[in-house]
Amino acid sequence: MRQEDHQETWQIIGSTARTGKSVAYLHIPFCENHCLFCGFYQNPWHTNHSASYADAMIKEIKAEKDSPLQASGPIHAVYFGGGTPTALESTDLCRIIEAVRHYLPLASDCEITIEGRIFSFPLEKAKACFATGANRISIGVQTFETKLRKRLGRKVDGDQAQAFLRDLVALDQGAIVIDLMYGLPEQSLKSWERDVEWVTITKLALTFSPIMGGALFLPPTGAAAPESATSTI
Ligand code: SF4
Repeated sequence: MRQEDHQETWQIIGSTARTGKSVAYLHIPFCENHCLFCGFYQNPWHTNHSASYADAMIKEIKAEKDSPLQASGPIHAVYFGGGTPTALESTDLCRIIEAVRHYLPLASDCEITIEGRIFSFPLEKAKACFATGANRISIGVQTFETKLRKRLGRKVDGDQAQAFLRDLVALDQGAIVIDLMYGLPEQSLKSWERDVEWVTITKLALTFSPIMGGALFLPPTGAAAPESATSTI
């Protein structure tokens, strides 16, 4: 689409009332690093993005509050996706959740999900999200096998990931969902079974991401990862 057509298209969408059950999706297009398997990476994260991006998003939500698109009926689920929503500073993430609750016509049982990763998501930030109205947190784990996690470009090891999830579940403030991937290069059946067993013991909800037909290609073990993938985890 040509850039000059964006505004016109957005106006058409904004003036169209929604029908049926609706989900509001809020996109946070930054990541602390580019995980090697991921096609969703867009922009490197810098802490100075946090307040300005939250300000812009809140301004947009407020400006559209009376538009047919936004105001026309209850919204049954809100999803903060990315990218990495949990990279935002706690205060900024909570400001957006508050704006969503204030300016969107949420159904009384609306599900509000914050997608994130364990790196830069301290428990205090999760508590703040729950206290502000989020009721579901979705974490991209992929695998607890530290060796595989390193190859994927994940920044915390398997033990740290499990410790974080135990604490998150123990808060008992909302639903906790994780993603696991099956079919990773060099992933053994035993490793996969250990991942699933740990999840069942911990009573987490699980979404599976099978790698179809070996379509996931990673650099060989020991090969230099792209610079964006090595910055941190
Ligand atoms: S943090 Fe998530 S969205 Fe970003 S590159 Fe990694 S897997 Fe993809």
